Amino acid sequence: MYDIIIVGGGVAGLYLASLLKNKDVLLIEEHKNLGPGRCSGIVSNRIKKFFDLPNTIIERKIEKAVICCGNSSAEIKLNSFVLNKEKFEHLLLRNALKNVDIEFERINKIEKDYSGVTVFTKNKNYKTKYIVGCDGPNSIVRRSFLDAEPKKFYFGKFCYSIEKPSDSYQIFLDSKYSDLFSWIAPRRGKVEYGLICEKRINKYYEKFLHDKEPRYISDEGFGVIPTGLCSCSFSRGILIGNSAGMTKPLTGGGIIYSLITAKIGAKEFKKEKPDFQNYEKECRKAFGKEIKYQLWFRKIYSKLNDRWKQRLVKLIAKNDLKIDMDFPITDILRDKKLKVFKSLFK
Ligand SMILES: Cc1cc2nc3c(=O)[nH]c(=O)nc-3n(C[C@H](O)[C@H](O)[C@H](O)COP(=O)(O)OP(=O)(O)OC[C@H]3O[C@@H](n4cnc5c(N)ncnc54)[C@H](O)[C@@H]3O)c2cc1C
Repeated sequence: MYDIIIVGGGVAGLYLASLLKNKDVLLIEEHKNLGPGRCSGIVSNRIKKFFDLPNTIIERKIEKAVICCGNSSAEIKLNSFVLNKEKFEHLLLRNALKNVDIEFERINKIEKDYSGVTVFTKNKNYKTKYIVGCDGPNSIVRRSFLDAEPKKFYFGKFCYSIEKPSDSYQIFLDSKYSDLFSWIAPRRGKVEYGLICEKRINKYYEKFLHDKEPRYISDEGFGVIPTGLCSCSFSRGILIGNSAGMTKPLTGGGIIYSLITAKIGAKEFKKEKPDFQNYEKECRKAFGKEIKYQLWFRKIYSKLNDRWKQRLVKLIAKNDLKIDMDFPITDILRDKKLKVFKSLFK
């Protein structure tokens, strides 16, 4: 019997595994090729609190973003990095392998009994005291233990084009390209064209690529991003990352929240008797309010037409804004920056 089984070897599962020392842990991941094709890997400099990443993993630093809608544009300062997600996950895998066993199999069924939990793959089954669901949008752990779902599911699609990257990250708010936003992001030796939306992903994607004309498409990626934190604890374990909608409702970014949560989870598992309700409380304390505020803003944003979005862009242009990428709304509400946004409605 294992102490803990982690289901899913994305950022959340691999990072948690690297933190669980002196425990009998098994991580089960269905794909052998971790990483590529699922995520753009843009993170704030908060990543440095977790890792000292080598330049092979950091593709480039991004210091500014240009937000555009129609003919209006505004520049905001950023302090962020573009990670090579494939290499990043391989680093996490190497760290995880120091502590845990890994099996590359798909879990098809999970059963709970008085002594613990049994997970079933095609040919084997494994017993464990506790289970952690790091298994993404369609989490089998979530569906087996909780009657809860993240509030929203976004779709993200992007491609790489072999062309010379510029210095800035361009973000487009135009409704013809997405009901959320689209982007052109510089990477190392290539440029990423992508968008995230709630509906009609292929229609938006075709229109965006048609208008922006990437030179030579080398690769494409697609993924689902759940957002809007749902319940993430149950008697036998917890959920971490995408499985519980631990992403930002305004951007879909979830790497930093997953790392924060994995740390909270690992701390709980260090206790002789982990308290999973306390884990959930700590997660909500860390970013629950921010997610709630962003869901409200998302609701307001979804009602804005392009004229209002242009007003918003012009307002940003008039003010020298530097916003915390991971906690933007908390940052705005805490600061004098709120005045800037209030003036939009005058
Ligand atoms: C298109 C796109 C772009 C993104 N861009 C960014 C970005 O720029 N910045 C950012 O911070 N975040 C971004 N994100 C979000 C970010 O990737 C995730 O929030 C973060 O990586 C945490 O993911 P996770 O580990 O929780 O889940 P996932 O990455 O979804 O991993 C879940 C893992 O579980 C495995 N799994 C699922 N079911 C089973 C099963 N039954 N048995 C065994 N294994 C299973 C899957 O194979 C997968 O490897 C993006 C997401 C998408 C889709």
